[in-house]
Amino acid sequence: MGDKFSPSTVGALAKRAAYICSNPKCRRMTIGPAKDDGNSIMAGVASHIRAGSEGGPRYDKNQSVSERKSIKNGIWLCGTCSYMIDKNNGNDYTVQELEDWKKLHEGMIKAALEGEKRIVFSMLIKYEEDLDYIRDVIDVLGYKGALFENYDIENPYYVLSSIESLRRDLFIIQRSVKGDSKLKVIIESMVKACRYYMNHTSVENDHIRMNTGLGAFRKMIGLNLKELINEYEFEIINDGLLSIIPSVVVMDKDD
Ligand SMILES: [Zn+2]
Repeated sequence: MGDKFSPSTVGALAKRAAYICSNPKCRRMTIGPAKDDGNSIMAGVASHIRAGSEGGPRYDKNQSVSERKSIKNGIWLCGTCSYMIDKNNGNDYTVQELEDWKKLHEGMIKAALEGEKRIVFSMLIKYEEDLDYIRDVIDVLGYKGALFENYDIENPYYVLSSIESLRRDLFIIQRSVKGDSKLKVIIESMVKACRYYMNHTSVENDHIRMNTGLGAFRKMIGLNLKELINEYEFEIINDGLLSIIPSVVVMDKDD
């Protein structure tokens, strides 16, 4: 039956991939609850990068048995992708390509382990009704001069109370959005940005400190707006808001 991976190698591959298929176009979850309490279903496969048996997909006669069985020669995939990479005797998926998948995937899981939310975000859903809430978010943001007015006309007290009311408004919208919606994560991030500004900037701060905090706040909201545009293909026409979204070019009136 060729050189199979040991159970401990299979387990390690699965855990290093967080039980998620390593094919970047798939990323299907391969483990989850069974119908009966106390059981789980596993639909992932520790797959060979170079075949475990002679003549198999991407077989490398120069590999030793221990190299063939080593974790370096394995990649965690869902059942479908595992089957797919070996079709046509593996000619459609090269060793290099599979090693790239594995490296990219493990890197992403490592980042997620350290707190990055990207992979969780990619599993969330976009709902039709989200578009109505996005309109509410844009409305609420559009009235906040603190997001885009010239720094020197900003009054610290006004800015703080403006951001406080923004946080409240966003929080109310966020509560209505479905729990597994991408929009919820984006609005939560905006609420967090408001809270961060409020906790780190006081009305007693000098102008420099306030403007630094305000700059960071605008940047965070801008990044969230960009995410909103990318995910929901939503168009924003408010020039003030457009001016804080990274790499959205706004024509300068003096040009
Ligand atoms: Zn897959």
